[in-house]
Amino acid sequence: MSGCIFCRIASHQAAARILFEDGECLAFEDLHPKAPVHVLVIPKKHIAGLNADLGGEEPLLGRLLAAAARVAKEKGIDATGFRTVINTNAEAGQTIFHLHLHVMGGRAMKWPPG
Ligand code: AMP
Ligand code: ZN
Repeated sequence: MSGCIFCRIASHQAAARILFEDGECLAFEDLHPKAPVHVLVIPKKHIAGLNADLGGEEPLLGRLLAAAARVAKEKGIDATGFRTVINTNAEAGQTIFHLHLHVMGGRAMKWPPG
């Protein structure tokens, strides 16, 4: 998916402030942070969103969540608290159609989200 910005970040063809990566996942700073800590966690493989056909790769979702917890710990917001969000399709506000988890924290979060 050469036209997908997150695929390009995953393959280091586009710049990003990367926190860490492994064979399957990548964590990088959101370009327009909405909280003092705002990191995105993505699969390196192109998956359009949470409702895409995962073709048996559901365990990848667990690894993404584990990576989100690692982000929180490395950013020092694991004890104070953090929010993990996946927006799916238009009404949820999804703008990039490559699956990503938002990891946000460093301030008090409102509930319910807008
Ligand atoms: P969503 O609205 O859930 O699809 O989230 C997309 C997120 O990607 C937004 O928070 C954007 O600020 C962020 N974003 C868009 N382009 C980039 C980029 N090139 N590098 C890092 N974050 C980005
Ligand atoms: Zn992609």
